[in-house]
Amino acid sequence: MHCPFCRHPDSRVIDSRTADDGLSIRRRRQCPECGRRFTTTETASLTVIKRSGVVEPFSREKVMSGVRKACQGRPVTDADLALLAQQVEESVRSSGVAQFDANEIGLAILPHLRELDEVAFLRFASVYQAFESLADFETAIEELRAHPATGSLESVPRPDASEE
Ligand SMILES: [Zn+2]
Repeated sequence: MHCPFCRHPDSRVIDSRTADDGLSIRRRRQCPECGRRFTTTETASLTVIKRSGVVEPFSREKVMSGVRKACQGRPVTDADLALLAQQVEESVRSSGVAQFDANEIGLAILPHLRELDEVAFLRFASVYQAFESLADFETAIEELRAHPATGSLESVPRPDASEE
């Protein structure tokens, strides 16, 4: 981090704190050359590559709006959706990967949505796991019956681990 005053290429961190949004870190730095102090804000960026190839920042709002459609007519509140979006963000961030494609985000939503509402889960899964026939639904329903929701959070399913 260059000093903004004298361009010295190094600086010393004298204080770090997490910003109110919880997603960025503010660091108070001091230049060892000129002694002046400055503040930097560093964000742990998480980006999503859309099917169109466009890269955009991860957005909880987008997660909520995507899931909201699958929840139409279901007893799911906006507070439930907000919590789900937060859980999805935490699980993708905890994977340590900084960039996902939109389909991976969809797959990361599934275990959390399943805890919330099984009907919405099936609707959402039919899109993101590309169900092609009734047999795909039957398989998913059998899976739901065999492994009832436990209330525990699962790790992010990667596409190569969720097939077959
Ligand atoms: Zn300086």
